[in-house]
Amino acid sequence: MTISQIINKFKENHPKADVTMLELAYEFALKAHSGQKRKSGEPYIQHCLHTAFVLAQIKADLATVIAGLLHDIPEDTEYTLADIEKNFGAEAATLVEGVTKLSKIKYRGVERYRESLRKMFLAMARDLRVILIKFADRLHNLKTLESLPLEKRQRIAKETLEIYAPIAGLLGIWGLKWQMEDICFQHLYPEEYKKLEYTYEVKRKFENTQYIQKVKNILNAKLREAAIPFELASRFKHLYSIYQKMQKKNRKFDEIYDVFALRVIVPDIANCYKVLGIIHSLWRPNLNRFKDYIAVPKPNGYRSLHTTVFGPDGKPTEFQIRTKEMDEGAKYGIAAHWYYKIKAKNDNGLRTQPAWIKEILKIQKETEDAHDFIKQIKFNIFHDRIFIFSPKGDVFDLPEGATPVDFAYTVHTDVGNQAVGAIVNDKIMPLDAELKNGDLVEIITEKKRRGPSRDWLKFVKTASARDKIKQNLKNTVMDNIKRFIPNIR
Ligand code: MN
Repeated sequence: MTISQIINKFKENHPKADVTMLELAYEFALKAHSGQKRKSGEPYIQHCLHTAFVLAQIKADLATVIAGLLHDIPEDTEYTLADIEKNFGAEAATLVEGVTKLSKIKYRGVERYRESLRKMFLAMARDLRVILIKFADRLHNLKTLESLPLEKRQRIAKETLEIYAPIAGLLGIWGLKWQMEDICFQHLYPEEYKKLEYTYEVKRKFENTQYIQKVKNILNAKLREAAIPFELASRFKHLYSIYQKMQKKNRKFDEIYDVFALRVIVPDIANCYKVLGIIHSLWRPNLNRFKDYIAVPKPNGYRSLHTTVFGPDGKPTEFQIRTKEMDEGAKYGIAAHWYYKIKAKNDNGLRTQPAWIKEILKIQKETEDAHDFIKQIKFNIFHDRIFIFSPKGDVFDLPEGATPVDFAYTVHTDVGNQAVGAIVNDKIMPLDAELKNGDLVEIITEKKRRGPSRDWLKFVKTASARDKIKQNLKNTVMDNIKRFIPNIR
């Protein structure tokens, strides 16, 4: 992978953009990671390039692709976030910071699944682009999983299946979701994967050469006759979703009917319905399997017409009919959706943060399988809540105006009682400082400290901190009394 491949890919989607910064970011990453190697033995810069390439592919904006190149610099090199900000501006630096914070969120098994998911959502609500970078980073890590020890490989694969892939689905980024799932499937269930892969390849070859070709030829002729401009492709269901379907419905491979589908891509919506009419006039449709996701899009924004007909020899055959824009939307989800929306307005690629947040929240709101906690987060975001990160990557939500003392008591009563100072985003801050959304806060504690100060009651914002302080002050008074009058209980 070279930087010119990334630049070319980026220019496909943003032809007028100035890409000087991309080259500079590459030079900088090359210097910062010089001498470092991946576990596979590759130069480290390859990981940065692959991450950036996926971002360019999903039509991410310039700052995001730059951040993709730079995403491992604060963690793994002698350069800091400040260096990134100085050279590439606050926007790219903020994105890298978000990725760094997110990478500190540790996966702790299925039972903590919801919590991990919740944390991802918190990060996402701050800036969705952070998650896109994390996806691209994860995808390359998955592709190079081979060089890691088995245990680590399985941990990463599990975490991806349980957290990353569902979020990619929720955002409608199917292209990434499928790639991630198939790689994880291969590492987690190697036996099942091999077996299924074999059957699948046999079927795929057979269908491709014979049946699909036959159907394609018939449809090709009809569409040309009708003078409709079109692209015709076959899409195969990815292995992991076939496997899931077999498991869920307790079916054999041969009993999964939508392993392949034919996809017709046309210039506009009117032609989608025209093509649908032509297909239905050629072969009898199974009306139970007809879906108009153009008139009624899926909650994550997916649009397409789906129909299954009894094709040649009465064989059930699925067709998906959509426009180019819908097709890209299905692959790249919210990223493409955003890209098209911006493109319709102007092509300068400028977008503002609040719009991103509003957009993602709107989509989450309309998503049927959204968990309750997402609602909670939406509530919090619009109702004066801030999210604070601990150095371990835990996220705590606090009311606006909360201070390091509130944070300390939220972490643990002892941390609150022993607090003597706070480091907020690498700077020492007083205990009554007002925290901001997304701050990374570390509490300095002293074991010898006798307990909280009465003054803290003047500035704490949370009821729980207030209660714990009062409780501790009371205990301290009792301790002192006991010290002077030892016989009292
Ligand atoms: Mn990385």
